[in-house]
Amino acid sequence: MSLAAGAPPPLRPVSLPELRLLAAPRHWEVNQLIAGLESLTPVRGLLTAHHHSGVLEVEGEVDTIVTLRCDRCLNLFNQALRAEAHELLELAAAGVGSGQGSTLPHPSRPLDPTELTPGGDDLDDRLDPEGDFDPERWLFEQLSLRLPLVSRCGAECPGPATWSSEEGSGDSRWAALRKLKES
Ligand SMILES: [Zn+2]
Repeated sequence: MSLAAGAPPPLRPVSLPELRLLAAPRHWEVNQLIAGLESLTPVRGLLTAHHHSGVLEVEGEVDTIVTLRCDRCLNLFNQALRAEAHELLELAAAGVGSGQGSTLPHPSRPLDPTELTPGGDDLDDRLDPEGDFDPERWLFEQLSLRLPLVSRCGAECPGPATWSSEEGSGDSRWAALRKLKES
């Protein structure tokens, strides 16, 4: 799991005003572990951010391998995880109507109440134009979204062996539970 020599530098948040000054999209080569995501291998791929006025266009394509626990047999297994995403992030003052602190509305931008989601569901799709874009966090979100809701180790899954097992085989905790029920 070592990063080879010549690996790209780790992803760092980049300031949006700085991105705005770039005439061209910014590209990142990704080859690292992503904070918060437990992966067996580094996350590898490419990421691009393009600053348009009012919108940050982000595009990414990354692969990794994650270790998951099968919901059925409880064994660990490895699964390839791939995220291909293209997202338009609105550049608007953070905290407007979201209850997130006391950030004042952006002065140059009139408030449109239809844009405010009461549950704050859209917060991730909105960036403070004077703030940062965090490519690592963005990749974390894209990959997390693609984690399976139900984990199955595959067609070879032995199934919940301890569930119907007789005494002596499998998990001793079940024996303890049986004793509790019998008493
Ligand atoms: Zn299984």
